[in-house]
Amino acid sequence: MSGAVGQSEEQACEAFVAWLDRRVVAAGRGDGLERLEVSPSGTFWLGRLACEDEVRKGAADERSERLDPCAIGIRLRPAAAPSWSLSVKVRARAWVQDPKDGPDPDRRWWRSDLVEEVVSVLVGAEGGSFGGKQLADAFAAVGAPGLSAEVRIDVEDWHRETELVVQLVNTSPEKPPGLKDSHLYETQIEVSGLATAPFQLEALPDSFRYDRAVPAYGVNVGVEILASGAFCTSDTVAVQTSRPQYWNGVYEQPDLSFETLASDPLPELAKLVDALAAYDDAQWSPTALDTRQAAQAWTTAMRAEADRSAVEVFAELGRLRAGLELLRTRPEILRAFQLMNMAIARSARGRGYSAWRSFQVGFLLSAIRFLAEPDDEARYVDTVWFATGGGKTETYLGLLLTAAFFDRLTGKAMGVTAWSRFPLRLLSLQQTQRFADALAGAEMVRKEEGVGGTQFSLGFLVGRAGTPNKVVPKPEGDEVTPDSPGMPDRYQVLLYCPFCRDENLKMRFDRERWKLEHRCTSATCPTRGQALPMYVVDQEVFRFLPTVVVGTLDKAASIGLQQAMRGLIGPPQKVCPVKWHGFTYAERSKSPNGCLVPDCQGGKVLKPLPMDAKRFGPSLRLQDELHLLRDSLGAVDSHYESLLDHLQWELCGTRAKIVASSATLTGYDRQIDVLYQRQGRVFPQPGPRAGESFWTTPTTQPLRRFVAVAPRGVTLEHVSDRTLDALQRCVRELVDDPAAVCAEAGVEPRHAAMLISLYGTDVVYGTTLYDVEAAGRSLGSNNTVAGINVEQLTGQTDFDEVRAILERLENPEDDFAERIHVVAASSMLSHGVDVNRLNTMVMLGLPLTTAEFIQTTARVGRKFPGLVYVLHKIGRERDAQTFRHFEQYVRQGDRFVDAIPITRRSRRVLDLTIAGVVGARTLMIREPASRQRLSTPAKLRDYARNSGMTPAAEAAEVARVLGLDGAEDSVHREQIAEWLQAWFVDLEDPANKATFVSELGPRSPMMSLRDVEASAPIHD
Ligand SMILES: [Zn+2]
Ligand SMILES: [Zn+2]
Repeated sequence: MSGAVGQSEEQACEAFVAWLDRRVVAAGRGDGLERLEVSPSGTFWLGRLACEDEVRKGAADERSERLDPCAIGIRLRPAAAPSWSLSVKVRARAWVQDPKDGPDPDRRWWRSDLVEEVVSVLVGAEGGSFGGKQLADAFAAVGAPGLSAEVRIDVEDWHRETELVVQLVNTSPEKPPGLKDSHLYETQIEVSGLATAPFQLEALPDSFRYDRAVPAYGVNVGVEILASGAFCTSDTVAVQTSRPQYWNGVYEQPDLSFETLASDPLPELAKLVDALAAYDDAQWSPTALDTRQAAQAWTTAMRAEADRSAVEVFAELGRLRAGLELLRTRPEILRAFQLMNMAIARSARGRGYSAWRSFQVGFLLSAIRFLAEPDDEARYVDTVWFATGGGKTETYLGLLLTAAFFDRLTGKAMGVTAWSRFPLRLLSLQQTQRFADALAGAEMVRKEEGVGGTQFSLGFLVGRAGTPNKVVPKPEGDEVTPDSPGMPDRYQVLLYCPFCRDENLKMRFDRERWKLEHRCTSATCPTRGQALPMYVVDQEVFRFLPTVVVGTLDKAASIGLQQAMRGLIGPPQKVCPVKWHGFTYAERSKSPNGCLVPDCQGGKVLKPLPMDAKRFGPSLRLQDELHLLRDSLGAVDSHYESLLDHLQWELCGTRAKIVASSATLTGYDRQIDVLYQRQGRVFPQPGPRAGESFWTTPTTQPLRRFVAVAPRGVTLEHVSDRTLDALQRCVRELVDDPAAVCAEAGVEPRHAAMLISLYGTDVVYGTTLYDVEAAGRSLGSNNTVAGINVEQLTGQTDFDEVRAILERLENPEDDFAERIHVVAASSMLSHGVDVNRLNTMVMLGLPLTTAEFIQTTARVGRKFPGLVYVLHKIGRERDAQTFRHFEQYVRQGDRFVDAIPITRRSRRVLDLTIAGVVGARTLMIREPASRQRLSTPAKLRDYARNSGMTPAAEAAEVARVLGLDGAEDSVHREQIAEWLQAWFVDLEDPANKATFVSELGPRSPMMSLRDVEASAPIHD
């Protein structure tokens, strides 16, 4: 196999991954070792079997039996009635300790020769034990007398059908005379000669999509079917997935290059829609479903489910057709779409791609109607379901730029087109950079094509500990001043210049303009040294209202506290006459004329808004990682989403279109209803079969090899350390002796340097910060390989450091010894970290949600074949379950995703959010309408009296805003009424000590949506 002529990079990677896996499994089992200094039972984690007596004695529960089991086995369904005849080939070894004066006193443990015995079994319905004497003799023959084992057959029939459990059981005594270790090692069984029928996986709602047959189940092991038809146990469960391709080869492929869609998009888009129509007809027509129903013996329920899916599929086709028709008939929509393509072409230049994937264009077509019919389309939330594959962010950006150009072409010359939100801590710098790149492309196109309005720009609006809310002239509290430590460099957000990609950016605080600026230092940059159109300080975002605001979800809370947040949902007040001061908001003691620049000398006479105030409302709100909006965070956000809708409606008479991305489809319609009080639509509709749709089809190219490990007898941490140690040892051998390793692994030596780069950095992923830190620490001490450089990437890692680590990962040091060898990461890694060099991962236990599993493992093997070890915390029931169904878990992960727990009717959450709704209504609606300051209780009191505000009326309005005005919400309405009673009492009380309006009432508005404990479950 070695030295095959013309081995491709991918083939080399595939062979190397297989070799790495063989080596890791060998390290786990102890293959190939002759002698050992330390006890093998404290070292090896695969293939070992404890003795039955010890397991029985040590613990009576199933949990500890899983931790160091005494049996491995295969569960089968015999095709015929008893009795049954079968052969069971047993393989095992022993480790024996020499006396102190033995031949090698430093390494007293030696490994026996292989025991390999075929046990013949003829068994009836009562089951039985076989081969005991035969196996005991065989152990004696290899120098381990006293060890014993048997093949045990259990017959079970409580599952309706008869099942055989064929097991190898270690029956050795706990202390065999003359032996120090009663474990068996490197155990394996092979069952042949029995006719079997497959198990049928339990029918789930959409089971018509899946192959439900499972030939056999392993007991404490995986099962492979050999070429001979025999069932063989494997120490790990390996599942190889294949790389999808983004076009279904049956149909003529349209040219979806950015260039073509920029110049002449209609013919190619028509081809795409026609191909989809033909596919849907071939797969989903009643005739097609009849055929499948007959061939696959669908139940009536399965057919009904398929029929329902077909309705959705044809509705989706209808939306694409409507989108295409709009491009044909509405010149400004066509023009916006073309300009967007020109912009994306620019931002993609030199990055190895120049065309859309078909599903991306499909989504754009299906969603574009919101430009033509914004009111009608705002009733729906369109969700991109990205199990489909990579390219979600680009899909967003396509939609976002189309909307931005459309706004400009239709008279919205400034202000925010889209506010894009990520859940807490999940907005990465790389992700932000992609937004900046797209907008820079759009800005260049805007200029060249003479599209009017202010320049396209990006705002970065993140919660606590990100970038400053504001910059103040003199030190006060923890506010940032131009001279604060680390200013201005520590707030660099961009990784490189989005216009010319030069990495030498310089941060600068411009005192005259009172702006924190990114500048590009390249002499050839089109920005010519001007500040990049990028705003990272909250107040600058409000002053300049960038075209796109990208940020974290928690920031929405500011709407109840900060008047200047108004620019994100509606018009600002006016414009400061001083150049570079920007939009103004309500007057406050620190901003007497409403200008947010400290000590503004612009005076009281401000300039009017240069555009119709109503057009300041954004066209789009985007929500990334929708599935994470659950529990209390989901509940809180549902209230704030309603508030945003309410404010924009009051101020502009419009509703923003909401677009989201989600990793799961389970229950998304209910989640959308709870969160946004709108109807959910998902794109793309799942295909007729799992893993296959119009938009993607599987190929033969390897994507990721998932290896499930159920550690035995040692800790998970030990296994993680040893696995990483083995992986690092392999790569170091390749560095030191490429010829030998390449020959052994079956790769051409010319690929060695590439393989060292692609497989030389391992990720160890922990679901808790504690796990991640422990993994990082223990690697330093518990390894046989010296000089492993470990870096951590968690939510706690500073921006600067993240940037530096990403930089080193992208551009590794020449000398392997200086590179990062292991990245210890938390879920922070799973969002927007796209490094093609990360191809091996060790997962410490299953993540809490399947969505996290899918997303996290997607970080490795992005371009080249990946290898993922999933170390199961096998004592936990959920991990044990998943280990048993690991193949289905990997291949059908999306159906294992639990429905998202969410409600908007949590009284505990309502208690937190009422203040924000009342505060926002005061700041955003009452204050501007009153044309006076309402920032102090005294002023608001006067206003309330004069305008006839009452607790009852305000309570009714708050209930309506929050969608808690239905018949079943009387308890909530009462709660709101009581809250407002208390608020009015405070307001009416001249002796009340509150300085600010926000201090009135039972509690102040939330500072951040994070203030609610995200993990606490919430109920109606
Ligand atoms: Zn530049
Ligand atoms: Zn000013």
